[in-house]
Amino acid sequence: MSTPPDFLPFTRPMIDEQTIAEVGEVLRSGWITTGPKCQALEAALGERFGGRPVRLLNSGTAALELALRVCGIGPGDEVITTPLSWVATANVVLAVGAMPVFVDVDPATRNIDLSRIEAAITPRTRALIPVDLAGLPVDRDALAAIASRHRLRVIEDAAQSFGARWNGREIGSFGDLVCFSFHANKNITTTEGGCIVLNDAQEATQLERLRLQGVERLAGGELEVQAWGAKANLTDVAAAIGLGQLRQVKDFAFARRLLADRYYRRWDASLGFELPPRQVAPAEGNWHMFQPLLPRWLAGRRGEFIAGMREQGIGVGVHYPAMHLFQLFRARGHGPGDFPVAEDIGARILTLPLFPEMRPTDVDRVCQAVAAVTHALRQRTTP
Ligand SMILES: *Cc1c(COP(=O)(O)O)cnc(C)c1O
Repeated sequence: MSTPPDFLPFTRPMIDEQTIAEVGEVLRSGWITTGPKCQALEAALGERFGGRPVRLLNSGTAALELALRVCGIGPGDEVITTPLSWVATANVVLAVGAMPVFVDVDPATRNIDLSRIEAAITPRTRALIPVDLAGLPVDRDALAAIASRHRLRVIEDAAQSFGARWNGREIGSFGDLVCFSFHANKNITTTEGGCIVLNDAQEATQLERLRLQGVERLAGGELEVQAWGAKANLTDVAAAIGLGQLRQVKDFAFARRLLADRYYRRWDASLGFELPPRQVAPAEGNWHMFQPLLPRWLAGRRGEFIAGMREQGIGVGVHYPAMHLFQLFRARGHGPGDFPVAEDIGARILTLPLFPEMRPTDVDRVCQAVAAVTHALRQRTTP
């Protein structure tokens, strides 16, 4: 689809010239897949996360799936998660043969409603997968308390929350298994990619085998394979981009925060949208996305709204409709009314442009377009 030069997308990765030059060096080096750049990125991330072992994968989805396998979760097991996430969060549970069990979200945070988790726990429950939607962290204290009371593993889907903090501590630097995505749209990218933060060296070794065909390298160069492994290693070309992103991530975070603040200041409250939850300590999000909810009278007209914005030169995303309403989960017995809060939010949520290269005046342009499109749609309903 061709777009005019002043079209404002809802997101855009920012890769600086130094990083592009470093990618060129990797391509010329003769070693383009997993190698020294991956090692350097794992070391840098490990240092960032307080010395915990970090292993790179070729996607956030692979990180989540292999995390489940590290925990030994499979057929007959249940895993509790939110229906308001990217479908990867539940797909990985199906991939290992276990059953995703959804719990509705809290309207105040749009994340899993922690007060409803315990009612969903059964003798088959093995793990919780919390998701930090839009980079706003789930309450890690409440989560850890539930997990320890019921002896559950926690696999954090932190795909959207790189750089976010809970109670002053960076997500990834504490907790059980923590999974990040470096997809192009995330706060830092390797084009595609991801990583998992593990608890100890033994888990790290297990993960290394799981990510590459189960292969163990023995002394003397011999190989052994004791168990199945995936093909999910990252390339050095990708890792070089990740190293460049880490140099810039502080600037990215600062830019995102300023733009989000400007949205709150410039927003016309009379339009009737619900703005995203304001971040209150101890939750400190990373502004991965800025997501208002359409006013209820526009709930069934999201497509018209998005088309109207596009005509104004502005891209709007949808992240996400409640996933239990997808055919995949309807076929497993779900339907409308199962998780009403997630359904309501999922039907009205919009992702407005927010990325580090945006100018403050772009925010003003978006706010003006939202007002214009909303007024136009109101005209169209009243004959
Ligand atoms: C992006 C994302 C994933 C999957 O990450 P990929 O790198 O695309 O595989 C999983 N969960 C959530 C919440 C995401 O936003």
